[in-house]
Amino acid sequence: MSFKISCQGATSIKTFVDFLWNKLTPAVSNTIRKKMAPQIAGDMRATCPAFSGNRSNLEKHILISLAQEENFNNYWQYLHNPQSFVKNYIENQIKSYCSDKGSEKMKTFLKMSLDAIKNDILSAIHEATEIAKDKRSTASGWLDLFCDKLRSDLIFPRKDLISIEHQEIKDMEFLKEAMCKALDPEMNRVEQNCLYMPVEEMVPEIQKMLSEHLSGCWKQCPCCRAICTNTIPTHDGDHSVPFHRPQAVNGISWYKTNNFVLDYCTSLVASDCFLVLDNDRHIPYKNYRQAGGDYATWSITPDTSAQPYWKWFVCHFRSKLEEKYQKRFIDKGKIPDAWEKITKQNVLDDLK
Ligand SMILES: [Zn+2]
Ligand SMILES: [Zn+2]
Repeated sequence: MSFKISCQGATSIKTFVDFLWNKLTPAVSNTIRKKMAPQIAGDMRATCPAFSGNRSNLEKHILISLAQEENFNNYWQYLHNPQSFVKNYIENQIKSYCSDKGSEKMKTFLKMSLDAIKNDILSAIHEATEIAKDKRSTASGWLDLFCDKLRSDLIFPRKDLISIEHQEIKDMEFLKEAMCKALDPEMNRVEQNCLYMPVEEMVPEIQKMLSEHLSGCWKQCPCCRAICTNTIPTHDGDHSVPFHRPQAVNGISWYKTNNFVLDYCTSLVASDCFLVLDNDRHIPYKNYRQAGGDYATWSITPDTSAQPYWKWFVCHFRSKLEEKYQKRFIDKGKIPDAWEKITKQNVLDDLK
């Protein structure tokens, strides 16, 4: 008779433990996945130079990689749709981190998270059992204690366990042993499951975390499309950028010609040239703000210094720019000889 009761007790504990682990392992996997995204984002910020500073720093790295790739379509997207270009750039960097140097680190992050959760579960089993024994609790009471101990470490709702809470369990010590015995094999299962989790699923989340640290204003100069470098997205005051670009980059041509404008915004605002609007209104460049709209919200100050970067770009992609904008680098738009001498290495060195 007593043997029968003990067998029944063992069977019901086994059912109870199996059910509980079936609910616990997905919760552990989810928790580990949730922790992984901020761990990767943090490590990328610490180890990838493109993500270790503000957006101006990121932009420098983007300009370097654009020059290294020499792909005009990528430049075009960056010039005309910088926000989505930057988002894609970050996503690609995450994918290559995860498939390359980050893959070993991800295993380490996984191991760390798994060890921590394993310890939490183990101590929850022990503590719940001790208290349940003292209080002569039922299965339901043990579950309350167990879930309560894990609450801060796992997303594991107690309400998912109501179907086993009325199970009759008298031998709490046996329950503890059965739970502990299953711990290692179950954690191995989680580890295998997490090792093969698709990185793709985490990319948008990591991208968001990295982008939060790279926020800033996305307004582009109405003349040359350089992006405002203010780090506050909706900042007060004027938009500004330390380096403007030759206006040809934005397809601007001299009045009533198809000759590209090679001048920089910063030199035009010091010149006697006119800004001609769509309605043929002529405004002296010195008073460009009178053009209203975006012109009125930008601070463009006279400056003769210019980065070699866009000079090299204009020379290198001359025919592509002519084709895309249907304008020419001739007459007033003739590229100066000095620009032709700038090499890719010059512009890369200048940015570093
Ligand atoms: Zn400009
Ligand atoms: Zn701005």
